[in-house]
Amino acid sequence: MRPLISLTESDICKLQGVLFDLDDTLLTHGTLTREAYGALWDLADAGLRLVAVTGRPSGWGEVLVRQWPIAAAVTENGAVWIAREGKRVRVIDSVSAEERRSRRMRLALLAEEIRQTVPEAALADDVASRVSDLAWDVSEHRKLAEPQIDTILKTIRQANGRTTRSSVHVHATFDGHDKASGALAFLRYAWGEDETRARAQYAFVGDSENDAACFAAFAVTIGVANVSEHLAHLSVPPRYITNRARGSGFAELSQSIVKGRDLGADRRTGRETEREE
Ligand SMILES: [Mg+2]
Repeated sequence: MRPLISLTESDICKLQGVLFDLDDTLLTHGTLTREAYGALWDLADAGLRLVAVTGRPSGWGEVLVRQWPIAAAVTENGAVWIAREGKRVRVIDSVSAEERRSRRMRLALLAEEIRQTVPEAALADDVASRVSDLAWDVSEHRKLAEPQIDTILKTIRQANGRTTRSSVHVHATFDGHDKASGALAFLRYAWGEDETRARAQYAFVGDSENDAACFAAFAVTIGVANVSEHLAHLSVPPRYITNRARGSGFAELSQSIVKGRDLGADRRTGRETEREE
């Protein structure tokens, strides 16, 4: 990982948008600080498309897209997309209603099995707003021991489910998307973005295991400083790292991007003025 300062002006000027994780990336221990919220506005004012890419529920995404200066949210680790359309928001499920019903029934059976095998485990307090997956709280409001987390992961895999782990939750799903495939499919759906071009023109910022797919997929990837706590579990690390952690690291990135774009714009204007003379 290289320090953020080595991100070049030319990389920054190519960006159409910034994709960002929520927990422990934009949010600081679950809180949206004044600094981080201001940073989102700065990026939006600079003309960048902002898309939250999160393991959090689609129900949360609906609220965020209505209220924040962001264009969309790819939620539940890629499965359900929320897009702003004028003053309304549209919820897009990546599978049919019938298929969703069947998968939700399988998830309910899995939840019951885990309740019996790991009675200490508790579902996350945001599961009522989820459509495509279930999440267990492993370090948000309670700390679950690693052997019990391993048992949950094993039980999910034995039921042919997929597992994902964020900084706070363990997830189970029967969906195929991860954060990267879901984000790329959404960029095509929403703005007709060619997948290869999108990989080069959208930056991704994150912090932990469920961000590895995006760290691998996009050309400009940034970890906030606390990503260093998760390196042992990250199959692919980000290319750049901020000096500061969590929301403050996000603000540091926002400042770099805005400054890089301002410098690039000044340089282009300067060149045009020279040509005119
Ligand atoms: Mg995170």
